[in-house]
Amino acid sequence: MPDCLFCKIVHREIPADIVCESEHALAFRDISPVAPTHVLVIPKKHIATANDISPEDKDVIGELYLLAQKVIEIEGLISSGHRLVMNVGAGGGQSVFHIHLHVIGGRSLSWPPG
Ligand code: AMP
Repeated sequence: MPDCLFCKIVHREIPADIVCESEHALAFRDISPVAPTHVLVIPKKHIATANDISPEDKDVIGELYLLAQKVIEIEGLISSGHRLVMNVGAGGGQSVFHIHLHVIGGRSLSWPPG
């Protein structure tokens, strides 16, 4: 998607602080972190929202969680706990329409979020 910010990061057209990647997924640090660790894990394939995930994407979605696990390991968050969250749609707080898992940790997290 030519106008998609995260597709541009996938294609290295704009810079990002990349943490790790796999064949179909990429993890990079959020530009406005809300915690000591705030990493976004995205599919390299453009999928606008969680509502647009189709059966053919099931392996890619699995890979997102596996790459998130790697981020959690790299960041030393396995025993401390952390949050994996995907905002869906403008009403759900989504501002970039290319799905991404937020990996948030490194501080105590409260629930429910705002
Ligand atoms: P969401 O509101 O769930 O769609 O999350 C989008 C996230 O992308 C926000 O936390 C932003 O801070 C982050 N973000 C926006 N632009 C960039 C960028 N160029 N590099 C890294 N993170 C970004």
